[in-house]
Amino acid sequence: MYKTVLYKKAYRMLDNITPLKFDCGTLCESRCCKGDDSTGMHLYPGEEIMQNSNNFLKIRDAFFESGVIKFATCNEKCDRRTRPLACRIFPLVPYISQDGRLHIVEDPRAKHICPLLLHNDMIRMNRRFKSNVYKVFRFLIEDREIKEYVCRLSNILREYALFTGTSLP
Ligand code: SF4
Ligand code: SF4
Repeated sequence: MYKTVLYKKAYRMLDNITPLKFDCGTLCESRCCKGDDSTGMHLYPGEEIMQNSNNFLKIRDAFFESGVIKFATCNEKCDRRTRPLACRIFPLVPYISQDGRLHIVEDPRAKHICPLLLHNDMIRMNRRFKSNVYKVFRFLIEDREIKEYVCRLSNILREYALFTGTSLP
């Protein structure tokens, strides 16, 4: 119940804000939505409760950093009202640095997919988008389970960044 309240609030805060002021899918033919059964998006802890009533997502268990998470794949017929948090914030991701601070960073795993991360002067990400994502995770990580998950995710991001030469705070 508590998680439903948290995720409803998070979804609401991200409902009408996107990385660009126009549909960025027109830049890349919505590359981040072209998955198959082996690619998809993680759900944050307990987020599957938001997906009960829709059938455009297939949700399964997946191993992640010595634990199990829920992982979703979609059939591209998106119900934007219920699309998962990971889709709403892409190509950004929450990251907790080793000094325990929350940051919202460009997902190093998205670098080869998303044209928004090419830092082209013509395509500037909406600052309000990033600041809303930050506000959302400020309150989400007050939940112990979500914070633990973001910490585990941050370990993966650190490893990925080392491997790809990306800098993180
Ligand atoms: S890959 Fe990037 S630019 Fe393309 S639709 Fe996804 S977020 Fe937008
Ligand atoms: S759920 Fe929607 S936004 Fe997310 S990958 Fe599928 S089509 Fe794209």
